[in-house]
Amino acid sequence: MLIDEQVENREIAKQYKELLRISYLQLTADDKKLIRLAFNTAVDAHKDQRRKSGEAYIFHPIAVAKIVASEIGLDATSIAAALLHDTVEDTSYTLNDIERLFGSTVAKIVHGLTKISHLKKDTDISLQAENFRKMLLTLNDDIRVIIIKIADRLHNMQTMDAMPDYKQIKIASETLYIYAPLAHRIGMYNIKTELEDLSLKYTEPERFQSIKSKVEESQEEQQEYIHSFSEFLQKSLDREKIKYSIQGRNKSIFSIHRKMLKQSIGYDQVFDKFAIRVVYRSKPKDEKFLAWKIYSIVTDHFVPNPTRLRDWISQPKSNGYESLHITVMGPQKKWVEVQIRSERMHEIAEKGYAAHYRYKQGNEKDSGIDVWLNRLQEVLESKDGNAIDFVENFKLNLYADEIFVFTPQGELKSLPQGSSALDFAYSIHTEVGSKTRGARVNGKLVPLSRILKSGDSVEIITSAQSKPTANWLDFVITSRARNKIKASLKEEKKKIADEGKEVLLRKLRHLKVAQNERTNKQLVYYFNVNSIRDVYYRVGLGTIDNKKIKDFATSYNNSFINFFKRRLQQYSSPVVKDVDEFVSRYDKLVFGKEREELPYQLAPCCNPIAGDKVFGFVTVNEGVKVHQHNCSNAVSLQSNYAYRIVPAWWIDSSEQEFTAELILSGIDKKGLVNEVTRVISNSLHVDIKKINFFTDEELFQGKITLRVVNKAMLKKLKDKLLKIPGIEKVSRQ
Ligand code: MN
Repeated sequence: MLIDEQVENREIAKQYKELLRISYLQLTADDKKLIRLAFNTAVDAHKDQRRKSGEAYIFHPIAVAKIVASEIGLDATSIAAALLHDTVEDTSYTLNDIERLFGSTVAKIVHGLTKISHLKKDTDISLQAENFRKMLLTLNDDIRVIIIKIADRLHNMQTMDAMPDYKQIKIASETLYIYAPLAHRIGMYNIKTELEDLSLKYTEPERFQSIKSKVEESQEEQQEYIHSFSEFLQKSLDREKIKYSIQGRNKSIFSIHRKMLKQSIGYDQVFDKFAIRVVYRSKPKDEKFLAWKIYSIVTDHFVPNPTRLRDWISQPKSNGYESLHITVMGPQKKWVEVQIRSERMHEIAEKGYAAHYRYKQGNEKDSGIDVWLNRLQEVLESKDGNAIDFVENFKLNLYADEIFVFTPQGELKSLPQGSSALDFAYSIHTEVGSKTRGARVNGKLVPLSRILKSGDSVEIITSAQSKPTANWLDFVITSRARNKIKASLKEEKKKIADEGKEVLLRKLRHLKVAQNERTNKQLVYYFNVNSIRDVYYRVGLGTIDNKKIKDFATSYNNSFINFFKRRLQQYSSPVVKDVDEFVSRYDKLVFGKEREELPYQLAPCCNPIAGDKVFGFVTVNEGVKVHQHNCSNAVSLQSNYAYRIVPAWWIDSSEQEFTAELILSGIDKKGLVNEVTRVISNSLHVDIKKINFFTDEELFQGKITLRVVNKAMLKKLKDKLLKIPGIEKVSRQ
């Protein structure tokens, strides 16, 4: 390709000047010096490179820096880092060069950006998820890394036309899966919208075009509507000397698309395609007052729908969003949403994080973002679970709207919508969460699973005897609670295994079975589990009982030599994988965060077997299809329909809890009830659901509903209860 270098250099210089001109933040002389140096360095570094489209590579970092400077509005450090973001990755410049020239902050950000681009690019859903997680880990370094990365992605999406189709689709689906949610959470609404729309443009071009042209067609009509709406208010607003502008706000193409899909409706049936926005000028101290004044004027003219009032001014969302939303019966008797916000709120809503910076001048602590970063940190701290699980969790906490509830001290806490009383308990403190016995919402006792509503006042009742059980996982949605419960269950498993080990060793001694590595291997083989810890655990749990241990000893003492010799030769690689890991006998498949059983089919393309890492794909007619996580056939499904993926796990059905009822009878004695409840609550893996006692003269009767892990556990408990003086009979309903 023939390139006129003079023309190109002139264009580069022009772009650079524009970069300085459009910066959202005021740049000092020092800032400009830094940016100039970064620009010169980048120009030199990329001087021999061209993009796929043929243009000089330097246009890309400049464009990213422009997005960072103007649309996001970050500081000079970020603008410099954006200019340099591909230097270490793609050119002969090293990180040391960058540090020497620009100091450690810029170098750290560039380093973070380089790390991200080293993550393996793959359409495999679990690898994407893993990338996402790693990317979030760079947040620990500096949140600007992520923001610049988003700007980089935006520019790549804007200039994707020169790429082959399959790459466009791959990048677009990754953008939908990872970058748009992140932009959303950071509060960069404009960028999130653009990323989503661009993704749709490449993944479903026809759909995109058809919605786009319909949106454009309706523009004129909308302008008229806004005009007639404004006319109603003009006089009153002017009389109050309010400086304002009234604008229309269009729902994005992607949001319209999503709504049409979700509700299976046509374009014309999407009703909230557009809203009206009243943006007013205000001094900080009058902001709230003016918002309600305007509210009052709007509702003087149009009837409001009382169920559709959202006050994000008194209580901003934690991504910083502030605004007052009402839905009114507008002109032509049409319901229309009206958003009332000051210029400052408007900027925060559009730009997010950066606008906070500008308005707070960097002096004041930005508590919303801090809270958010802390929460993110907690999500990141959990190292267990697979990456898909992790992303699902993250997204859940990400997209959920928030609710605000009160502690008994009147302190306000924000939680994702759908949080339960137990989530609340864990949000206060892990100790509170794990000792939760009950909850009182607005003064009334409620189950731990109670979903909280904004405005609820919640009190957690704790008890030293309480401890997390597996079914707690069913009614928490926050990552924090899930992770803490899982950790504690693991801890308890370990305790059971330790107990089991003691019991087993004692019994083997009695049965004169030698205790050594070989015996361990034989135990593992005999009981068909994966590790000796598994054997211990099952002994502790009671699924391997006395009789089974005896049977083992018999076969060991009699015929083990021939029997095991043969078998052990066959299994020459030791069965013991990892002594610290409990690997269950996977025999049952469960789906989603609720770990539900769903009708499913194993996909014929990759034929997963029990224990494989798998995920579910929701099909239209055939229920859930289960694929191996690295199935090659599933890749295209995953990138196009990420939202139809459900996490799936193989579990050990012998560990699934079930509900049982025990009927007790005996002679009524003082302290008997206490003794019964003490025995039950001291039993591992038993959870009391309901308890009823009746006494009739001397006779005592009790009915207890419990959740237990398995029958062996229940039997153990029955035996213990029978030992209580006064109890005569314990039977299962
Ligand atoms: Mn780049």
